[in-house]
Amino acid sequence: MKFFDVNSILREPVKKLEPYEIKKFPFKIKLDANESPYPVKPCDIALDIPVLLNRYPDPDATELRKVLARKLKINYRNIIAGNGSDELIYYLILTFGGPVVYPVPTFAMYGIIAQCVGVERLEVALDESFDIDFNKMKNLIISKKPHIVFISSPNNPTGNTFSTDKILGIVEIARKKSAIVVIDEAYQPFSSKRGLLLFVKDFENLIILRTLSKIGLAGLRVGYLIGNEKILQEINKVRLPYNLDSLSQYLAEHALKNFYSNIRGFIKKTVKERQRLYRELSRINKLKVYPSEANFILFKVKESKKICNALSKKGILIRDLSPALKDSLRVTVGTKQENDKFLRELKNILKGL
Ligand code: PMP
Repeated sequence: MKFFDVNSILREPVKKLEPYEIKKFPFKIKLDANESPYPVKPCDIALDIPVLLNRYPDPDATELRKVLARKLKINYRNIIAGNGSDELIYYLILTFGGPVVYPVPTFAMYGIIAQCVGVERLEVALDESFDIDFNKMKNLIISKKPHIVFISSPNNPTGNTFSTDKILGIVEIARKKSAIVVIDEAYQPFSSKRGLLLFVKDFENLIILRTLSKIGLAGLRVGYLIGNEKILQEINKVRLPYNLDSLSQYLAEHALKNFYSNIRGFIKKTVKERQRLYRELSRINKLKVYPSEANFILFKVKESKKICNALSKKGILIRDLSPALKDSLRVTVGTKQENDKFLRELKNILKGL
């Protein structure tokens, strides 16, 4: 084969990127990606899918946005639908650039996408109780003038939410410094606290990000953002015209219309199981378990990597968070049977250490 030097044409930010690896192990129980454990097939949502595949999809996903808007009691013009919220994070950074600020540890994509696009990343460490250090955040916004602040609440992987007053304080400081604040509410459906959606009408620089991925439809890749029309108009300039395919649009729309009681049931079961799993994990001496408002639980344990590997050998996948978060594992809440199996194997492994 004739040699070609691909490195010579790579953009600088891409040269520094590590591939985002999603590990594919053989598994029986998958508790590593914060998905819903309850199976959903297309035919559970719609028996007939009258989508014409020879035609392009609706470029604006209008019907889907209207169904979402009715559910959220807002105007559909305040919504953009995306191919997962990942795509919307990408569009936000592509539209507004950086620096981009976010507390850490948090969802990795804010940093990865910022790096891909080639904008500066400013990370603010959460305090020891995983809360946002308000003064640090405030000073950074004032001194570095970021264009976007990302806050995941409930936060992945710590599981806690941040207080509404604190978030609104940050939104107000950001507004004065012309920064957008994106509250990523991917896990909001599992939380006992109210989200920030209500405040979008009060703050032009506030954007809420949500997804159908965590509540049972990760395979559809449908996320959405809610915000001020003036800001959405700008994001729409960089959005690819057919970013959401016809099947996903149709199935998401119908899932929200006809399947929502099932989705509500999945959420309820997950919250109940999370409470039980939390109690059970807390009884194990060697663990420090953190309360969660999401569909996963974070716990600290010595030799986390070894434990994670031993579980995967038993066909149970969970997430090892080291080195970003030392001695820490994140387990997604599964079905009752899955959680029981996970608990049993975890206790066995701990006994053998
Ligand atoms: N935000 C957070 C906080 C997440 O944890 C995830 C998924 N891990 C996403 C966004 C991405 O969700 P989606 O499947 O909609 O791209």
